[in-house]
Amino acid sequence: MKTFSKSPDPHQSTRHVSCVVCGADRAEPHWECDGFAFVRCPACGHLYQDPQPDAGDLIDRYDEEYAQYEVDNAFNFLDLMLKGLSDVAFFERVEAAGIDRSLLDIGCATGALLEHAKARGYVVQGVEVCVPAAEYGERERGVPIATGTLDEVDLADATFGAAHFSHVIEHVPDPRAFVGQVRERVVPGGYMVIVTPNTAGLQARLFGPRWRSAIADHVHLFSRRNLRRLVREEGFDVVAEKTWGGLGIGTAPRWLKRPVDWLAKRLGFGDVMLLLCRRTDTSR
Ligand SMILES: [Zn+2]
Repeated sequence: MKTFSKSPDPHQSTRHVSCVVCGADRAEPHWECDGFAFVRCPACGHLYQDPQPDAGDLIDRYDEEYAQYEVDNAFNFLDLMLKGLSDVAFFERVEAAGIDRSLLDIGCATGALLEHAKARGYVVQGVEVCVPAAEYGERERGVPIATGTLDEVDLADATFGAAHFSHVIEHVPDPRAFVGQVRERVVPGGYMVIVTPNTAGLQARLFGPRWRSAIADHVHLFSRRNLRRLVREEGFDVVAEKTWGGLGIGTAPRWLKRPVDWLAKRLGFGDVMLLLCRRTDTSR
């Protein structure tokens, strides 16, 4: 999550992948980073790592060190998440929709958002690949967290009024299959919230391969248009969108950062985007 990143292991095994958005298989080199590279699909503009590290190697990076990073930053991250959710009236919409007040948070780290939703009267469930972070959340926050990836965990037949995943989809090897798995966990008419870096944002355009989100752990980097396309094709309507973050701290003087942040949020070129989606009622 955020800027936490480990260098890729040079001995890890990799595999070739085609574009997850449009299926084309003729991506061109785009950003050469330190020990890994992003390619760009000329058909749709999607940025992704090709070749990609194996899924198991990606998950092995979420160790004690990562858990401590999440513990240390839990309230900063919760504050950011709640600001984003508030901007799209997330809780109000769920509560007005006449659906279950239940929340599945995938990649929930130490479960701070779950704890918040539980206090609001929601039935909550977390999913987290980092075992020490999940254990911390269950112990310190009293929220249930299943360990593993979404397709690995046993949630029996549980479905939820809403699913949330913040800074997760860019880490997932197959985001299309992942969104499909989320759809199976959301009731018809239920909500899905995605937060992920925005390749159409100002910082990505300014910094290119030095963009803070162009890191080894991020195997897919979406534009708003491409993320919209993927979720629509997987059975969701996009009902609200926000972007935020104009210039990163330390990349510009404060007098410039504030107005650019303000403009980024209003004009949609922010560094991070949030899509609030609603599951369409028709089954596939
Ligand atoms: Zn493509």
